[in-house]
Amino acid sequence: MKHRLTPFVVLVSLLISNVALFAAATPSSPPNFIVIFCDDMGYADIGPFGAEGYQTPHLNRMAAEGMTFTDFHVGRAVCSPSRSAIITGSYPKRVSVNGNFSPKSKTGLNPDEITIAEVLKQQDYATACFGKWHLGHEPEFLPTSQGFDEFYGLPYSHDMWNLHPENGTRYNFPVLPLYEGTTVINPALTAEDQSAHTRILTERTVQFIAQNKDQPFFIYLPHPLPHVPLLMGPDFEGKTEHGAYGDVIEELDWSVGQILDSLDTHDLRENTLVIFTSDNGPWLRYGDHGGSAGPLREGKGTYFEGGFRVPCVVSWPGTIPSGTVNPEFAATLDLLPTFAALAEAPLSPDRIIDGQDISSLLRGEKIPDYERAFFYYQGPNLNAVRKGKWKLIFPSRYTVWEKGNGGLPGANRTVHPLPLSLFNLDTDVGETTNVADQHP
Ligand code: MG
Repeated sequence: MKHRLTPFVVLVSLLISNVALFAAATPSSPPNFIVIFCDDMGYADIGPFGAEGYQTPHLNRMAAEGMTFTDFHVGRAVCSPSRSAIITGSYPKRVSVNGNFSPKSKTGLNPDEITIAEVLKQQDYATACFGKWHLGHEPEFLPTSQGFDEFYGLPYSHDMWNLHPENGTRYNFPVLPLYEGTTVINPALTAEDQSAHTRILTERTVQFIAQNKDQPFFIYLPHPLPHVPLLMGPDFEGKTEHGAYGDVIEELDWSVGQILDSLDTHDLRENTLVIFTSDNGPWLRYGDHGGSAGPLREGKGTYFEGGFRVPCVVSWPGTIPSGTVNPEFAATLDLLPTFAALAEAPLSPDRIIDGQDISSLLRGEKIPDYERAFFYYQGPNLNAVRKGKWKLIFPSRYTVWEKGNGGLPGANRTVHPLPLSLFNLDTDVGETTNVADQHP
């Protein structure tokens, strides 16, 4: 029997198709982006990655509602170069950030580089950086000269400080300043001042969300912690059986909860991509004041997985499938091209971006033959290269420090030679068994 369209069905069909056309033609508002970038947090330092001795309920919730990436990497396993990678989408060497900046540095990230904030500025995003910059502290290098509308925080690491326990014997650091924009608003931070930072940075973030809830925004929140010295607010001090390190992580987790709650309050969760990760692996030399890389070999400053592979939790309800674990390779290098794609912001054709758009991975789409370019592990030199499951480390030497305690670094070190080494990361994520001879 043939179907005959009644006038009523035709009318309804036309209405539906017009509604569909209207919906398709209406641009959805571009997503907001929040990047929570911890400092020296190890692979196993939060609940979704197996942390013990303290609780991270807000990160657990974020993971349950979103996605964890288990093979997520930084651009280099120390602070300034890792920051240049997340900010430019390019390897640190490509933008000439070859080591950490210090209070004596006269240079920083070249203002001619195009930052993730400048990319989003093309689409009129409100942009803010709250926390530790560490890409140059002269005015032309600070965040407000690099695409950010607001900056509140520290110009470099908070251990580059006159109150560092070894200042008199080893470092001779100057007093640590606090900036608002390019203005020093506190020229000499005390330990008490710094203990309030996680709370204040969180309050600034929540305030910025409220102020910009009706327009797209990008917040870069590079927490100075859990990098040493470990400093936390009075509500968190002495709270965990794990000691100061656990106390600091619980306050960072509280901060995540405040930010997610704020997005809920303003009904912005489903239009905000939140990313929580770290700038490099744990500073193992600090023993009980450093984190844990769990099953991974070594930590911060090395080319082993413990230096480069970091915890990563992402949330974007309605777009990112909830409760998923994504084992695919991804990196901080990918954030700039991914945000550009999601915001429909053009990338400059005269720049080489080493990351790639991972928005389809975020949506949970299975990409047949997901293929990455070679990934380069750079220390001062090119130390290793990764393709798929294979990681090749070139003949080199690496340093293992004795573990300190109570906030002091270990004093003694041993230097180990490493022959040409090939590791199968699918079966040996701890890089224990060199199979180079079997795969010439
Ligand atoms: Mg760091």
